[in-house]
Amino acid sequence: MRRAAMEMTGAGVSPGAGCGPAYLVGVAVPEPPLGSRHDGDGDAEIARAEASVERVAADLEVRGEAAGGDAQDVLLAQAMIARDPVLAADVAELIRLGTTAERAVYEAFMKYHDLLAEVGGYLGERVADIDDIRDRVIADLSGVPIHGLPGEAEKPYVLVARDLAPADTATLSKEVVAAFVTEQGGPTSHTAILARSMGVPAVVACANATSIMDGTLLLVDGTTGRIVLEPSEDEIHAIVRAATVRGTVLASATGPGATLDGHRVSLLANIGGPQDLPSAIHHGAEGVGLYRTEFLFLDREEAPSEEEQEAAYRQVLDAFPGGPVVVRVLDAGGDKPLGFLPPIEDEPNPALGERGIRILRIFPEVMEGQLRALARASKSSSARLHVMAPMVATAEEARWFTEAVHAAGLSSAGIMIEIPAAALRAADLAAAVGFFSVGTNDLAQYLFAADREVGTLRDLQDPWQPVLLDLVALAASAGVPCGVCGEAASDPALACVLVGLGVTSLSMGAPALPWVRATLARHTLDQCRAAAVAARSAPTAEAAKAAARVHLPGLVDLAV
Ligand code: PEP
Ligand code: MG
Repeated sequence: MRRAAMEMTGAGVSPGAGCGPAYLVGVAVPEPPLGSRHDGDGDAEIARAEASVERVAADLEVRGEAAGGDAQDVLLAQAMIARDPVLAADVAELIRLGTTAERAVYEAFMKYHDLLAEVGGYLGERVADIDDIRDRVIADLSGVPIHGLPGEAEKPYVLVARDLAPADTATLSKEVVAAFVTEQGGPTSHTAILARSMGVPAVVACANATSIMDGTLLLVDGTTGRIVLEPSEDEIHAIVRAATVRGTVLASATGPGATLDGHRVSLLANIGGPQDLPSAIHHGAEGVGLYRTEFLFLDREEAPSEEEQEAAYRQVLDAFPGGPVVVRVLDAGGDKPLGFLPPIEDEPNPALGERGIRILRIFPEVMEGQLRALARASKSSSARLHVMAPMVATAEEARWFTEAVHAAGLSSAGIMIEIPAAALRAADLAAAVGFFSVGTNDLAQYLFAADREVGTLRDLQDPWQPVLLDLVALAASAGVPCGVCGEAASDPALACVLVGLGVTSLSMGAPALPWVRATLARHTLDQCRAAAVAARSAPTAEAAKAAARVHLPGLVDLAV
């Protein structure tokens, strides 16, 4: 009789399959006891802390140089954080009050840990970096070794951890690590970024991963997020073979996006700033479909100058000569508060409060500054700049935005469709703007009244929900070009459905681009349309997915 294999799932963030024994990374350095006091020589204790911080920063730099590439950037950034004078001042102040260097370092770093964790999103995922520097300094001060990883192994192992620090992963190689599995982290966490750049499969956000016993044989699929414990030989062969086939198919998927019968669909990248450009270019993006400009400024207490903004915008425009670059003006509020905007009164429900274009209408000068910086940046560039507004609900808001964009001397103004009211009245809004871009993340959140930050509501946020597809269809048939830049665009099968609904461009996190390109290239526009009709006729998200797949035979080839 065949034994039922134990399985776990998380989010697949680096494609491919890896198999090996689990290697559990040890727990973090213990917290120095609250209230621990030094012997009274504050200056000596401060000097001890400073020397330790410097040793850790220098060590991070050395590791960075050894690793090179993306990892070096990450480790150099960590070394810079370690040497941050504000942090040093916080540590010194606590020591002057009598706290030991170990405890002072702990408390000072935790202040920043809490700040970042509260902001969440991209910055929230930097918490692991802060914690790692903290642990390294405390370990150095107390003379204990930092939890380490084997530099070599008999056979490649699957690294399992609560979260991984860049300093640990950067010097590892494909020969040693078959895959990464972490309990925490998201697609933009450093584990994900580094795993992708190493070409090692990775699954993050896998609940209870650290309950896996050391040495358990694991089979990790970094595309689907599936982890099989103690897999059979057959399972290993099937998954590894599928991953190899996919690798070959992906490597041959190049060039602009199009269906099998030549219907063009621009494949664009979602970026948070110039740091995301190398990946976008590497994965063959034809341009940028969503530049989340608020990511540039999430950690700022003072408004960035127009010159600084102009430089950040120019870098992105220059990366895509002749290509489209869709810049979204600040989408602040909700889960993305900006420190330099005057505080909005306490809101019981920030996701339903002053956010996106609503904040920009309260502080129009902030948006006008941004538009001026964009207009100047685009003067010297051949990229086709499009500017869009987030969280637009009414035609009146859309008109207000278009007028402001035109007044700044820019020609192409569009809006995001991420509020059901905007989708339902898409035809009215289309009269006021040049293009739409559907934000399926927020559209699902508002359509189902299901907070996108709440993991237990995941089913309701599923972009395969037929009613969500109905709204996309409304937007796509309103008479203006309509892209999708929410996460839905990065699901290869759903991407075909979106094209079948009439969507004209797809924008996504760059690693998904080859998958979507290869999937589109295997299907005709008619097949995409048939898949869209079938999905919309289904009663549930799951049924929609199954119904669409019947019309998309090329998915089997790609094993997606
Ligand atoms: C969306 O809501 O789908 C979107 C793309 O915007 P963001 O994820 O930045 O809110
Ligand atoms: Mg949104």
